[in-house]
Amino acid sequence: MKKVIHVYCPVCRIRVPIEINESIMISAKNSPMGMTGVVDIHRDHALVIYIDSQGHERGSRVYSLIAPLEAGKTFTIPFKYMTSFKNIKAFKLFLKDKDLVIEGYKERPNIMIKGVLDTIELEIAFSKLSNQVYEWFNIFLRSIDKARDKIKIETLYKALQLIDFFSETEPSEKMKNLLTLVLSSMNITYKIDKRARKYYELIKTILEKNYPGSTIEEVEKLQGKLLYEILRLKDPLAIKESIEFLLALEKREVIHFKEIS
Ligand SMILES: [Zn+2]
Repeated sequence: MKKVIHVYCPVCRIRVPIEINESIMISAKNSPMGMTGVVDIHRDHALVIYIDSQGHERGSRVYSLIAPLEAGKTFTIPFKYMTSFKNIKAFKLFLKDKDLVIEGYKERPNIMIKGVLDTIELEIAFSKLSNQVYEWFNIFLRSIDKARDKIKIETLYKALQLIDFFSETEPSEKMKNLLTLVLSSMNITYKIDKRARKYYELIKTILEKNYPGSTIEEVEKLQGKLLYEILRLKDPLAIKESIEFLLALEKREVIHFKEIS
């Protein structure tokens, strides 16, 4: 069964079509409250429509994207966002200490890889499994653990896009930091150290050769912005390069990451 309901977004002042499928009703049925919040992302806010196990609408809410996620709830990423994944078929993240579930299904798989770390339970179903995929999964689990208080639905989705894109390559140990930054990106900004910036001129040419799409001037221009804003429109390749460049600058103390809450 599949149906489309139209929900009014008071911020955009338009009615948004939301596809309700079997998978969403199963999520609602499995959740302790008997409903799941389907999340439609609109630039700087998200419209959440609560759906019960019969597929009926049970109210809606607008969230600011940077607001902390409400505990005790289940959130579902709509099917339309899942279709862009080529290897990930489904995922489910359960943050036990917040009693919070975020999940998304391109299909309901028979088998999902499951990992448990401290208060985190992560399940992902991949179309193709390999050693690299397992390594990515483990790195992802550890980065979720590091970023757990800062994870938002959108940053989780961005991190999943990266894993989906790179899952056939060998992950380096650096990827844990990279994924942690992506997951926390709504709460992270950076500042340039003026002194180190001066010395940077000496190594600029050599360093920037490794990052053809990045320059210190661009990084200076974006100083103080949320990392999420900087990454928002970039594809996985560009996101990887941007963050690797920032990490290289951080290592040389040219920038310092700052957490904001
Ligand atoms: Zn809206």
